[in-house]
Amino acid sequence: MWSPRGRSAPDACPGTLRVHVAADGNLARVRVPGGRLHTEQLVALTAAALDLGDGALELTSRGNVQLRGLRAGTERDLAARLYAAGLLPSESHERVRNVIASVLSGRIGGGLLDVRALVDELDEGLCADPVLAGLPGRFLFTVDDGRGDVTGFGADVGLLAVPGGAVAVLLAGTDTGVRVPPAAAASTALLAARAFLTESTAQHSTAWRLAELDNGVRTITARLHAALDLPMVAPVPADIPETPNRAPVGLVDQLDGRVALAAVVPLGRLTDTQLIALAAAAGAGGDEINITPWRTVVVPDLDTGEAGRRLATLAAAGLVADAAAGWVGVTGCAGSPGCAKALANVRTDATVVHAAAPSGPTGLPVHWVGCERRCGRPTDRHVEVLATIEGYQVSLDGRPRSRSATLDETAATIAAARRGT
Ligand code: SF4
Repeated sequence: MWSPRGRSAPDACPGTLRVHVAADGNLARVRVPGGRLHTEQLVALTAAALDLGDGALELTSRGNVQLRGLRAGTERDLAARLYAAGLLPSESHERVRNVIASVLSGRIGGGLLDVRALVDELDEGLCADPVLAGLPGRFLFTVDDGRGDVTGFGADVGLLAVPGGAVAVLLAGTDTGVRVPPAAAASTALLAARAFLTESTAQHSTAWRLAELDNGVRTITARLHAALDLPMVAPVPADIPETPNRAPVGLVDQLDGRVALAAVVPLGRLTDTQLIALAAAAGAGGDEINITPWRTVVVPDLDTGEAGRRLATLAAAGLVADAAAGWVGVTGCAGSPGCAKALANVRTDATVVHAAAPSGPTGLPVHWVGCERRCGRPTDRHVEVLATIEGYQVSLDGRPRSRSATLDETAATIAAARRGT
């Protein structure tokens, strides 16, 4: 039986230069630390998708973006475009820049620390250390401003702002007891990442995640305490959320009186029309777009009137800013024809089920997958819709509720499961 401790090969996560060969062409993943893009970067990505790929951008469960349908041999062209846009600061580190950060940190209430500068410092320190280019592509950092919206992802190395002006350091979602001032948080996270590599070597392991090492949390915690010369016990244990806290949808009031516009991207796929509308909306605000791990996009820094107009434009383009719409909380993998392993065209079928769903309380999230690999599966409680050769199997909490060849029956089971009934 397969075991993560028995991994025999490095991870195969795609990047910009090391693409994944899919059934619909090559797939390149572009890391966006903290999910923050400038308008010009979105425009560059859009042009690359149109010129080299299938014209769309996909959002991933880690707040990154990917291009599909790329022609073979376009890798260098894509890399040159991304480098010029500031999206490829290090070719050697491109796959390890996996950083999820609190959405709208510093702009909305509830947080203890504006983590934007901390994310930049972490990313720059990561790219500046040749050793850290050896991290697996699955290795994840989170930077949480204290709201607890991203700590529940259980990152390999998590930073969480805690009361008293300190930042707690977590490993695989576990509090290490290490508390550092914000100015030392990025360097401590990088120290933990280096300790992971050192421990992996010591264990002759090819682990992709910290939790896959033997006693990984304990041994790396000990290395951190020793390196920082700290006591082993935290003064107050951090309040660690069990699951991530999903991002808002609709208009969100900012602390400075301006408004952020947050919209669901159906099945995480941004069309060229939507990309152009998004770039225009960002241009009317702070020239920034945030990508969230929940396949939503956020345009901050709009004045109230502009936000209303842009909301209507994005809705007309097919994005969803109604928090009660049927699309809210719905995600899916690529399915066929993009993925050769898929047993169904899950995107088309999910669209049939959810696009016409009536507005109302949406209930639990739903994730559609084309096979048992379950790509992009959310970390929080959700309804799973799995393609099988006998139709879709709908499950909640790992327990199948039905398997049906008709979409009407599947839709009814999903609706009931979302309500928990
Ligand atoms: S879950 Fe299966 S069908 Fe879907 S993208 Fe992954 S491998 Fe392909």
